Amino acid sequence: MRRWLLLLWLLSSPLAGAAKGPAFTLHRLDGEAPGPTLLVIGGIQGDEPGGFHAASLLVTDYHIERGHLWVVPNLNFPSILARSRGVHGDMNRKFADIRPDDPEYAAVQKIKRIILDPQVDMVLNLHDGSGFYRPQHIDRQHNPRRWGQSVIIDQAELPGVAHGNLAGLAARVRAHVNAREPRPEYHFHVRNTRTREGDAEMEKSLTYFAIRHGKPAFGIEASKAFLTHRRVRYHLLAVEGFMNALGIGHRRDFPLTAEAVRRRIDANLRLALYDARILLDVSGGARPRLGYIPMPPDRPLAFTASNPLLAIVGERNRYRVRYGNRRVTLLEPQYFEFDDSLKRIVLEVDGERREVPPGSLVPVHGRFRVAPLAGYRVNVIGFRRPGRRDESGVLIRRQDIASRFSVDRQGRRYRVEFYRGNRFSGMVLVEFAAPSGA
Ligand SMILES: [Zn+2]
Repeated sequence: MRRWLLLLWLLSSPLAGAAKGPAFTLHRLDGEAPGPTLLVIGGIQGDEPGGFHAASLLVTDYHIERGHLWVVPNLNFPSILARSRGVHGDMNRKFADIRPDDPEYAAVQKIKRIILDPQVDMVLNLHDGSGFYRPQHIDRQHNPRRWGQSVIIDQAELPGVAHGNLAGLAARVRAHVNAREPRPEYHFHVRNTRTREGDAEMEKSLTYFAIRHGKPAFGIEASKAFLTHRRVRYHLLAVEGFMNALGIGHRRDFPLTAEAVRRRIDANLRLALYDARILLDVSGGARPRLGYIPMPPDRPLAFTASNPLLAIVGERNRYRVRYGNRRVTLLEPQYFEFDDSLKRIVLEVDGERREVPPGSLVPVHGRFRVAPLAGYRVNVIGFRRPGRRDESGVLIRRQDIASRFSVDRQGRRYRVEFYRGNRFSGMVLVEFAAPSGA
């Protein structure tokens, strides 16, 4: 089920990439059987990771069997990567009026068109809110002015529209979430902002834009009192509640516990650079800087990411890898002309022959050896054998490589690079098995 998303990014130069920022992505998950379409939006504000990681997990870890799930997990992507609520102000106040010279004009127009697509039956906007919403004042953290742990509606009903019983649907989803949360203090409530009756702020919001155009829309707020993975769990419970209400059939292959969600957020984070000649697997984190990354001198940085929240941002003459609000690592380039003649790499892994294309991740239990290849030189980063320039043909174990050269922080993933003369031809990552008991 885990898949490469093939999101292709091009950074023409580090400075240009930093100034413009990446655009949001729309992911359409289509079921085999026909059914309604739910649009889920995350990341309208860049500092609400519960919402955007939940939306991202829908893309990477859910399978739709009936109906359609459309997901925009990274609506305000530049603000997400900058860890800012909004680098150009609050995007969720730009849906009534927006000046054409607003830097977010294009993004807002584009998401409006997606919301108004005739196929879209319902819209969810995922937020992380302060405290715990309660209809009555209980204390500072639990009162009618707080937003956390709630399903938000602008009005009770949208007359004459399918799924227009907003209050009824919100109550149903609230019950779905609360049935899976034994602690009453964390239960969800329904908050009706009665926007049309004169809430000037909410009138500028994305959900009210949808409502004005006859689309059922809801906000979901997980409390900022929780760490990200716990917020994500509440968001996913709520989204599943809406999918059930609409009859959208869905499947996931992990239990909806906070711990399983935390592991999924950290898993399968891969970047492939330059037609996958270079693979960086940063699942579970990476060393703070990765040096001597081969890059061609006069080509834009092109990469694909396995996760819609993963991106490379140019920063002076270096590149920063970011995952949502997190700084993952800093890539320090070493410039080489590239050679594209290398198609297959042969290795002996734990005694077995393996043939892989460049850009592969090769799991190793105990040891590996790269088969010599005429015309190419092999460099296992962090491995040294005095008097040897080509490191093919040598049996290498984990302890033969200096662990500070690993890509990850646990000393398990290492770069094996191929060169032809002075040109860089490609690489694979070898990943040693975790020590038993770890
Ligand atoms: Zn928000």
